[in-house]
Amino acid sequence: LQDQTFRHGPGSSRYVEPKRTFEKALEISDLVVLDRERCVLCWRCVRFSDEVAGDRFIQLVDRGPGTQILTFKDEPFDSYFSGNTIQICPVGALTSKPYRFVSRPWDLMSAPSVCAYCSVGCPMTNDARSDKLVRTQALPNENVNDFWTCDKGRFGYHYVGSEERLRTPLLRKGDNFEQASWGQALDAIAARLRDGKRIGVIASGHLTTEDAWAISKLSKSVLETPHVDARIQDAGAPYELALGLSGAAGSSATLNDLESARTILWVGPDPKETLPVLYLRLRKAVLDKGAKLIVCSPRRISLDVFATHAIRCEPGAEARAVAGLMRATAQPAEAVNDIGDPFVVAWGPAAAGRDETPILQAVLALAHEREAKLLICPPHAGSQGMLDMGCHPLLDAGQAPAAEKGMGTREMLEAAAASELDALVIFGADLISDFPDAALAKRALESGVFTVVIELFATETATHADVVLPSAAYAEREATFTNLERRLQKLEPLLAPPGAALEPWRACASLARSLGEDWGWITFEDVWSDIRANVPTHSAIEVSHLNQASLAPHPAQESGYASGPDHAPAHAVVAGPGGQYPKGFRSGSPFQTGQNWPLSWELRAFEARQRPGIIAPAPPSNGGFDGDHPFTPRPAEAVGFALYSGRLLYDEGTMVSKSKALRGIARPAFVEMNPEDAAELGLSEGERAIVSGSGFEAELEVFLSDISKGAVFVPYDQKGLKANRLMSGLDTRVEVRKA
Ligand code: SF4
Repeated sequence: LQDQTFRHGPGSSRYVEPKRTFEKALEISDLVVLDRERCVLCWRCVRFSDEVAGDRFIQLVDRGPGTQILTFKDEPFDSYFSGNTIQICPVGALTSKPYRFVSRPWDLMSAPSVCAYCSVGCPMTNDARSDKLVRTQALPNENVNDFWTCDKGRFGYHYVGSEERLRTPLLRKGDNFEQASWGQALDAIAARLRDGKRIGVIASGHLTTEDAWAISKLSKSVLETPHVDARIQDAGAPYELALGLSGAAGSSATLNDLESARTILWVGPDPKETLPVLYLRLRKAVLDKGAKLIVCSPRRISLDVFATHAIRCEPGAEARAVAGLMRATAQPAEAVNDIGDPFVVAWGPAAAGRDETPILQAVLALAHEREAKLLICPPHAGSQGMLDMGCHPLLDAGQAPAAEKGMGTREMLEAAAASELDALVIFGADLISDFPDAALAKRALESGVFTVVIELFATETATHADVVLPSAAYAEREATFTNLERRLQKLEPLLAPPGAALEPWRACASLARSLGEDWGWITFEDVWSDIRANVPTHSAIEVSHLNQASLAPHPAQESGYASGPDHAPAHAVVAGPGGQYPKGFRSGSPFQTGQNWPLSWELRAFEARQRPGIIAPAPPSNGGFDGDHPFTPRPAEAVGFALYSGRLLYDEGTMVSKSKALRGIARPAFVEMNPEDAAELGLSEGERAIVSGSGFEAELEVFLSDISKGAVFVPYDQKGLKANRLMSGLDTRVEVRKA
């Protein structure tokens, strides 16, 4: 409205009547502020919360001239999607608490990017003022996020500008670090790696596709080691099993396939906590498009609210439950009867520190038998890119089986702890915080193995390293992320990295040069020429196409007054609510990095149009899947409880904990139990219990739920407990007693 008035409105208001007054600027949550005097009662926020998010926290209250937008008494706007209401509010009545009064839109520099958190890969704009990232907003891509993001993606950006970012390479001198130049650091690393026989390389799932290719090439061609892996919290997830069925360790379904599916089976984590916009897509598929949803989980998850069938099972027994859906005579009969084509089977690693093999085998067998499409959901923004580029002990780049099998993350850490590795090179991973066996990670890093860490921050893992290299963050780089559909989307750089921080691919190329191999990479395009030449699945991908919108606009649209059958707007050009806006389209490049955008989101979305990205083709399936995996559930042990642990949206992860808007709103750790188990231990809701395992114990508040008997859920990384301290080996069991 501000933009429209500025462009087309009269210089002064003709409204002379008294205006409605309200108490100013109510904080209706930790993230959203409401100014009711600006509100025009358009209902957009109410309709979004009700129809899209399903979180009815905000409503029209009172009647007649007293009608106002408000949350319910004593109930904050406690939604994971609340920030979307800020973006669709046409008058700025709902504003972002962290961004409020930070900048006028015309003072911002903006660039399109992609969220760096989860594997949905929501496109975003990054907005900076005075070289500081001050806001991120959703960009529309109807193939991926519709027009939405979750609040973690929207408000979790402050870590980029944190004063704690690493700025220079550091070399260990005794118990301390000394600052060094890149040349000194690379020489020190090359001197140790040159003669290394057994080198392990571990990467984070938050790195880009280009980083993944560089890490894979450095490991397999320069360091000549097959021991490379990017699975950390998902260390027990055998993505490579999907190769025999769909030709790729990844999805054959797209997110849009969910909306044309007749039936969807979900076997995985709670998507509202881990893949929030996928939760919105599933909700839309069921409630708007009529899909039947079958959910298989050991505990109640967000999808149960609108699922057609919720199958509850013990942790690990999902395999048996999925196998039960395979034949027409199987159980539960109602769920089997509801399976129809098109059928999408979705799986993601649900719990850290357990072997997902039998579950994924059962999922693949079902997909094979019912000729269903697969949606494979690895956890992070860069996880799929790592699989595509061969950062995996059993895969080479281009979804090819590895020429030489290597060790996975767990085996590498065990080898390091046993002094059987010469060096560990760690890219962006805080193993002590994130690997589902903290004691093993610590033993490995304290074993004296020569360790190099490239990181954003001085994490606990980095403080154990011999050389620490500073890494550039996502808003500082030209790059791509590959999402869970295997869709590549482009990030444009907006900021300069702090100090001497570099992109991990550039660090790899520099290290390769120090070791005698010059890759000749100077620019992002150089990396892509190399990817196209060496990765068969990506040989036809033109990265310049990733900048492009779906369709070139019809010339008549440029006037903004297209009409008549010949001038009907191409639907792909319509982007978001602003798609109906009659003026404002500007021809030319959909985005020019760094350009000022003194426009509202609607106009900007319309102007920018959508950048759909490109899905890398999968190689043809080698037919190696016989559909007959012998999935044998583990026998239940008698003592203790099966530990089932997954992430909540706001946790103590490195990026979230350095983002000031989110830092304070993460829940403290808790233990969730079945009421019968709790009663046997004399525990009730809200009491304190001691949870112990692997020589570690923590006192936690008890919550009762319908989790299967014999199992407890503990969130993976919350204030008060990093659950990986309770874990050792696979499929950890814990003891619980009254505090
Ligand atoms: S759903 Fe995932 S990709 Fe999208 S904004 Fe949230 S964390 Fe980022």
